[in-house]
Amino acid sequence: MSAANGVTSDLQSILELSRIDQEIFFLRKKQREFPGKISQLKGSLSVDKYGTSQLLTKMETLTTENSRLELELTEHKDGLRKSEDKLMQIKTNEEYDAVHSEISTRKSKITEVENRLLTLVSDMESMSGKIAEAKNSATDDEHKQLLEEITALETENSGLESQIQEKEAKRAEVSAKIGQKILAVYTRMYNSKKTGMHVGVVTDYSPACSICGCNLTSQKFLEVKRNDKVVSCETCGSILVWEEVPEDPALEAVKKKKKKSVVAVVADADEEKMADEGEDTPHETAEE
Ligand SMILES: [Zn+2]
Repeated sequence: MSAANGVTSDLQSILELSRIDQEIFFLRKKQREFPGKISQLKGSLSVDKYGTSQLLTKMETLTTENSRLELELTEHKDGLRKSEDKLMQIKTNEEYDAVHSEISTRKSKITEVENRLLTLVSDMESMSGKIAEAKNSATDDEHKQLLEEITALETENSGLESQIQEKEAKRAEVSAKIGQKILAVYTRMYNSKKTGMHVGVVTDYSPACSICGCNLTSQKFLEVKRNDKVVSCETCGSILVWEEVPEDPALEAVKKKKKKSVVAVVADADEEKMADEGEDTPHETAEE
């Protein structure tokens, strides 16, 4: 394998490595963000949109009042029974009047409490209807959609770690194939940002660095297209790699336009070469 071929395959592998690293970067990003997203969605699920908890509190008050009235009723009924028992042992007219007054008070209290209980029971019935309705509304489409979203995120989240492990294994495999020098240039950039976005792709249709978007000079474009040495983007430092893309009729016009300016530069470059004959052309490489 010639040196140039070695570089060519290194460049292809470094591009592959950067793509794996970008995938790892996005998987790790999800891994960081998902737990927060999930708990946020769960939080909006528990918000009591239909006021169920408020209705339940009102129902509790009615139930407490109901128990209290039941007790009061029992008390009045006991009192009435005791007063009626007293009737048997009455000796004077005064006693008779007093006991009759007790009995009549107890009876009117009993009627009053019984009426209040009737109203209360009817209130409780209508309240339990409202509660059932609210609980039913809480399982409407919006609620179901939210639940589905949470389940989907939880499922994806639980699979992220194994996906990352898989990518890491692939990363080690690809790294092992790459020449030490190019790998060192890449690793330096990777270690500072960990994004994997350190290799700019250049194509016939896009003679620019795909990382920072800056246009390449025609000279630089040709250097990258030759694909036989490490060329770095002057703006962002990314390693530039040529990629052949399948012809796209819609983009052919763009290509032709670019070619025209490239042809002019080739002519210039050839002239330059003749003038510099014998000298080593200084290469701008990332290895330097
Ligand atoms: Zn760039």
